[in-house]
Amino acid sequence: MAAGTSSEPRVIYKSKSISTSAFKNCKRLLHWGPALALFIIFLISFMSVTCTLMWWPVNTLGGLINLLVFMMWDALTLYNYFMAVFNGPGFVPYGWRPKNPDDEQQLQYCMECKGFKVPRSHHCRKCKRCVMKMDHHCPWINTCCGYLNHANFIYFLLFAPCGCIHGAFILIASSIHSLNLQYFRIYLHGESMVELSILSFVIVVFTIGLAVGVVVAVGMLFFIQFHGVLKNETGIETWIIEKAKTRERFESEGEFVFPYHLGWKKNLKLIFWPSGEISSNGIHWPVEESCHQFTLTAEQLKQKALKREHVVLVQIVEDYSGSWLPISKGCKVVYNTPCSDEVRIPVRIGDHIEVTRGKRHWLYGNKVSENRSPEESRVRGWFPRKCAERESDVEDQNQNPKDPTEDDNEKKKN
Ligand SMILES: [Zn+2]
Ligand SMILES: [Zn+2]
Repeated sequence: MAAGTSSEPRVIYKSKSISTSAFKNCKRLLHWGPALALFIIFLISFMSVTCTLMWWPVNTLGGLINLLVFMMWDALTLYNYFMAVFNGPGFVPYGWRPKNPDDEQQLQYCMECKGFKVPRSHHCRKCKRCVMKMDHHCPWINTCCGYLNHANFIYFLLFAPCGCIHGAFILIASSIHSLNLQYFRIYLHGESMVELSILSFVIVVFTIGLAVGVVVAVGMLFFIQFHGVLKNETGIETWIIEKAKTRERFESEGEFVFPYHLGWKKNLKLIFWPSGEISSNGIHWPVEESCHQFTLTAEQLKQKALKREHVVLVQIVEDYSGSWLPISKGCKVVYNTPCSDEVRIPVRIGDHIEVTRGKRHWLYGNKVSENRSPEESRVRGWFPRKCAERESDVEDQNQNPKDPTEDDNEKKKN
């Protein structure tokens, strides 16, 4: 499909201004992520402006420009932050189906949203929706980063460190002035006098640390995100591409080509000039000449089929409550808990789980329920490895019960 062509109505999903529905999204701010992010922005801004008014007063041209530039960083950071929150990533409508019924076979189906997943979309467990061009779920904006808010999110990642570098510079200069107040008062007869109480000085030092932390953490995220934008890859797609390159391929399949990499210039235009010639409506995406709309989805379906082939069926032999810190399962289990916010599922003796991946002390899988219809939500998540045994091992034990003395003998050996 040629770049920018689309058979779907564009206006439904495209809204780059704060609309009435965007204001409904205000409730996204009622979460620890946005509350903490806004507090950090407020603290750095407030302390920087207070200090700069003493350190470089605005009655000089330089002082005025310094303050205006800092406030510009502030305004750009806040504008893009709120746009990323209020616009949201763009969700695939519930029960969505392609116009051409033949296309349904080439798409993935989302049981939670009861609709087909459009190319590049993924279901977010936090948002409980399929997200268009999902990159990741960001707790700081309390929604996903995706099709509609990707540009604002990246601008935010750029302007926030710029403001923090400027703020840290003001705060460091002000604290040096306040420490050498007598020197500036007696020898330089300066008009700028930074007088800080002990408490204010401690808050300034704390704010400098916070600003440097934001520069490092957010700055790194900016480079990671920008690198992805240059290749038109989301975080999830990078993972899919890696698996596509390492999986065994049939000769007829040929080499894997990522369909959305159009060259860095077009990739940049697609995100930062969405109304230009290279554009998408969140459903149809411009693709490389040798590819089609479903190239990546086809690869995902093959990877999922391969994953199903490697599923290991286990039976639960020890109850687990779903706790994030299951102390009763031992220190190693607690210490090696997966570094992921994916859910932990409670399991009971006799449950059957299809394990798709695992770590040394934890397994991840889907609960198998005979009574569940395919339309019902799947229960999947992490549980401690020691609570489960392979189905085949359990069957062997039932058919050939172990000699009860065997365990004792083994223990003696140990
Ligand atoms: Zn979904
Ligand atoms: Zn999300």
